[in-house]
Amino acid sequence: MPEKVTIYDTTLRDGTQGEDVHFSCEDKIRVAKKLDELGVDFLEAGWPASNPTDEQFFREIQHYQLQHSRIAAFGSTHSPRGVPENDSGLATLLQCGADALTIFGKTWEVHVHEALKTDLEHNLRIIRNSLAYLREHTPALFFDAEHFFDGFKEDRDYALACLKQASEAGADALVLCDTNGGTLTSELHDIVSQVFRELPQVQLGIHTHNDSEQAVANTLSAVEAGARHVQGTINGFGERCGNANLCSVIPSLELKMGYSCLPENRLQQLTSVSHFVSEVANLRPFSRQPFVGRSAFAHKGGVHVSAVLKNARTYEHIQPESVGNQQRVILSDLSGKSNILFKARQYGIHLEKDDPFVLDILNQIKELESKGFDFSVAEASFELLLHRAMGRVRRNYTLLGFRAMDAKHKEDEDPFSEATVMIQVGGDTEHTAATGKGPVNALDNALRKGLEKFYSNIREMDLLDFKVRVLSPSLEAPEGTASRVRVFIESGDPHTRWITVGVSYNIIEASWQALVDSVDYKLFKDEQDKRAASGP
Ligand SMILES: [Zn+2]
Repeated sequence: MPEKVTIYDTTLRDGTQGEDVHFSCEDKIRVAKKLDELGVDFLEAGWPASNPTDEQFFREIQHYQLQHSRIAAFGSTHSPRGVPENDSGLATLLQCGADALTIFGKTWEVHVHEALKTDLEHNLRIIRNSLAYLREHTPALFFDAEHFFDGFKEDRDYALACLKQASEAGADALVLCDTNGGTLTSELHDIVSQVFRELPQVQLGIHTHNDSEQAVANTLSAVEAGARHVQGTINGFGERCGNANLCSVIPSLELKMGYSCLPENRLQQLTSVSHFVSEVANLRPFSRQPFVGRSAFAHKGGVHVSAVLKNARTYEHIQPESVGNQQRVILSDLSGKSNILFKARQYGIHLEKDDPFVLDILNQIKELESKGFDFSVAEASFELLLHRAMGRVRRNYTLLGFRAMDAKHKEDEDPFSEATVMIQVGGDTEHTAATGKGPVNALDNALRKGLEKFYSNIREMDLLDFKVRVLSPSLEAPEGTASRVRVFIESGDPHTRWITVGVSYNIIEASWQALVDSVDYKLFKDEQDKRAASGP
């Protein structure tokens, strides 16, 4: 049996300290349920005494039956000028209904003097009394030793004395915090080893920040030195440069170091959990994120692609599926027949190398790429291109024409955008007009208005992102000042997201192409799903 490392997730507490991370109470509930499915042992959900959202969360979460995770609440040791029994912060912790309590205390004399404005002896009593008081009322109790590594370097004996007080008062784990994130891995390993020798009976934990970009390495190193309780956040969200990223820590511990962190067969959910948490935080997933990022197993260079297709281990450090990710081959102008076959297979299309379609598709791609199309991002446009080349995409409508208009009537007023679209669906001609925030939005609205009558599923799709790039004229295409623009549109429905592309000298035309591809993709996919559901 692999040895267990306890996973203590603090995405909903320390993670929300990240500058661009905001969760409403409903968001926090959704994330908590997801983390429970993943199977983290503890889920630190907030500091109930510090803000009303957290207080509300602790009330709401009582209505849910979590399967695996225990909810932890966070707070501080009692006020230096009071006693635990009368401390409002500790009282809030006891009333919030959490399954576990974590309190942080000072272990660095600078902070004892500057922040608490008290003396070193009294701080020891504060730690001991706070924990002893909570101990009687909670089944799980943790002590976060704030600034432990800085404190240890300045006064080893005092930092250890703080830990001993917490241990004697009954804490289940003593969590060594690199609060400022400045400790280097070798130094941290040495300090954790010393603490482990001093307190061999105690469970040690680790809580690191990424200010020297070593939060993950420091966490793993602490485990090597004896820590068995690991704190971190999904995607490394957290104050300043973030916390230790559990999306890297967990697979490293499980796949490379032989520990058990999550219940069996949960690791495969990691990629989807990572994306889910980014989406709920309304942040774009970071594509180069190790293990779970979109690019983590993406191969582009010709040599890499042909090697990886023969044997994935040549350029992959783990099996992408073990963390729920997948290998991707990126289409670029390096792409040859084998890349096309590989991509087609991913979309469920089986092509042979000497299939006449393949050469046709390859030629089309080469021509489009020379004009500035980029299919490495716009995979939906590429997938459509494959299906179209094989005659699989039904033309749902014919465009008879569009018009997009911008007008500005007053200097300090926003311009007014309006579009009309004329399409033919079956025997019907639809002529629709719509306004919008900018001409592309107006076109989008007008096109949907026309189509919704025939295809109600268009209503559930949204345009999520729109990117325009001016392509610099190249030697092969010396157009001078009349530069082409490339437009990427990212769309989504409740199930998935997709990206399409358009290129033209005219930004409206380029947008229109991407827009039409996006709508076509949605209609095509839904039709495919319907066919699959109704069987052969
Ligand atoms: Zn922290």
